[in-house]
Amino acid sequence: MLSVAIVGSGPAGFYTAEALLKARAGDVAVDVIDRLPTPFGLVRSGVAPDHQSLKAVARRFDATSRTTGVRFVGNVEVGEALSITELRQLYHAVVLATGAPHDRRLGIPGEDLPGVIGSAAFVGWYNGHPDFAQVQPPLAGPALVVGNGNVAIDVARILLKTPAELAASDIADHAAQALACSRVERVSIIGRRGPHQVSFSPKELGEMGELERARPRVDLNDFPPLAEDAGLEPGLRKVVGLLRGFGEGRLHDARERELRFLFWSRPKAVEGAGRIERLVVERTRLEGGRLVETGDEQALVCRLLVTCIGYRTSPVAGVPYDDTAGRFLADEEGRIAPGLYAVGWARRGPTGTIGTNRRDGFGVADRILAEAAAEERPGGAGLDALLLERDRCPVTYEAWERIDAAETARARQGAPREKLVEWKALLAAARG
Ligand code: NAP
Repeated sequence: MLSVAIVGSGPAGFYTAEALLKARAGDVAVDVIDRLPTPFGLVRSGVAPDHQSLKAVARRFDATSRTTGVRFVGNVEVGEALSITELRQLYHAVVLATGAPHDRRLGIPGEDLPGVIGSAAFVGWYNGHPDFAQVQPPLAGPALVVGNGNVAIDVARILLKTPAELAASDIADHAAQALACSRVERVSIIGRRGPHQVSFSPKELGEMGELERARPRVDLNDFPPLAEDAGLEPGLRKVVGLLRGFGEGRLHDARERELRFLFWSRPKAVEGAGRIERLVVERTRLEGGRLVETGDEQALVCRLLVTCIGYRTSPVAGVPYDDTAGRFLADEEGRIAPGLYAVGWARRGPTGTIGTNRRDGFGVADRILAEAAAEERPGGAGLDALLLERDRCPVTYEAWERIDAAETARARQGAPREKLVEWKALLAAARG
């Protein structure tokens, strides 16, 4: 029997489990281990709470979890409860599907002032991640969101939506309440490059034009001549068309809040007495494809700054790590060392959609099947013995179902669930 430990129960982990089961049903035992007592990784705590359709993929992972040969082992942190070396001794293969949970840093003075929050913490806050339930973003003045990717769009949208627009979401109650009283009247999304260099998706950007109480604005002087749009890849061309639309007409739009897109602005310093009061940005331009600064600085007044500039994987003791890229050192097919693999964001960095992990997972599963050693390994029975010896109490899939039932039962009217956000409450619900 082939035994595989997958560390991380997000999309990359579950697609890998699914691929292994499809290839070797009845002859493979997969343990999906997670430090949280809840499965599904970013589907639960990264995907925006008002994008419920994107969370439907959890049903697929649920089906995988119920298949014979797969176990969810929650509340077990690899690197803390047991080492990667121990795990490698227990299983034929270990797959690191740990994602990229840490924010990249801007690397500018003042970045650690209160009021500057990375997107991992901010998104974790509104999504009810137990590590970020205590975050208290200041919601009483202009907010800045740095980055021109879809995470920046998610963050700005959540900051600007009305309570009614969030009613059918599974936003954490503490965030819904704080946002209902929010006095953030202007959100500015800041890009260090221009409209032709953004990473927004058309659907996500399009939603910004449909917000009930906020009106998007751009400065059309920031755009290259219209004729240059023709050479763009179709998705980006659509995005740029939408952005141009935000700059045209609507002069008498009476919506009470404002969403500004500020391009060509590189963050230089965060300033303030004891908390953020201003972000200093320097005007940039592209010269022969290279971003250059112009010396033209501007201070943007704000109370909150959310950085949405990408993520890094957590290093694990004993696993080769590329510190510059912020991910494990694996080859293109995910192999780090014999019997040790990385998949998803932990291998390729924080790019792509949930579906991108399917190809990744199936690829790494093929590789495992081709390379696994023939001799027997203790597998899950060995893990259980080790955890028992260390007095660790894993959360099983059945226990997660008890959490799930408790969250569904306490949902606000119209919402799919009300997440439990404290470790203690999660573990109590798991015990039933
Ligand atoms: P992203 O798409 O890579 O965008 C990161 C942004 O940060 C880029 O605009 C980048 O600018 C900017 N940036 C990086 N370092 C910076 C710095 N020092 N100063 C200023 N700006 C800086 O990443 P993301 O938004 O975190 O999203 C991660 C992945 O998840 C993406 O593949 C995204 O599409 C996906 N996602 C999808 C959805 C959805 O489908 N609904 C939602 C959320 C996320 P440069 O381009 O100049 O480097």
